[in-house]
Amino acid sequence: MTCEETQNLLDAYVDGELDWSSKVAIESHLQGCPPCSSVLASLKLLVSAMQGRSLRFKAPEYLKSVVLSGIERASPAVRHSLANWRWVGVAASFAVVVAVSWLLATRTAKPSVETQLPGDIVSSHVRSMMADHLTDVSSSDTHNVKPWFAGKLDYSPPARDLSLQGFPLLGGRVDYLQDRPVAALIYQRNQHLINLFVWPANESTPESRLVLRGYNLIHWEKSGMTYWLISDLNPEELTQCAGLLKE
Ligand SMILES: [Zn+2]
Repeated sequence: MTCEETQNLLDAYVDGELDWSSKVAIESHLQGCPPCSSVLASLKLLVSAMQGRSLRFKAPEYLKSVVLSGIERASPAVRHSLANWRWVGVAASFAVVVAVSWLLATRTAKPSVETQLPGDIVSSHVRSMMADHLTDVSSSDTHNVKPWFAGKLDYSPPARDLSLQGFPLLGGRVDYLQDRPVAALIYQRNQHLINLFVWPANESTPESRLVLRGYNLIHWEKSGMTYWLISDLNPEELTQCAGLLKE
């Protein structure tokens, strides 16, 4: 067996896919050939590196919730067929679930809005912290902030102060997202500023959270309103803030 033939078969040899006679031929060549042995050694190193723990990532929790809510929102027929596919095995089921959720997500969502909106929200958040554009009305008093929006928007955003819970309301302003004026409420946690964007929901979208350009974003809907919370605050405290706002 030549060096070229040996090296062509090394992948299969490492994976234990060779028949007995090829295996013996390769092993006898390797015994007398240092160059091929060193190729084999680096191949084995690569294989063990690929199996290393450092290359494994646990799927984030929110991915699980997105997948599960996708199934919940699926039609009964889809759920029924998912149940019938149990025999395929856990791994295959998961692949099916992901595929179905992806299909549902791409069919029900408007791709342009899906991809653009979070980016626009990050830009608005960053812009709000530049210059003196953070608040148009500065007050932690709900009774000042809420009426201020009247006449500027055709809806009344909730403007609750959360000072007692550690998230004081700094004020509000009118911002522009998706070519429409939206309410922005500004909260603070220590040195971190939090923007809450609120506008009437056009269509129902599932709760979601993501990290974009270093900012944490949490989105939910309640009582016909869409909410987007964004900050450089850590995800745990931002989740706490979202929980308080949802109450
Ligand atoms: Zn060789």
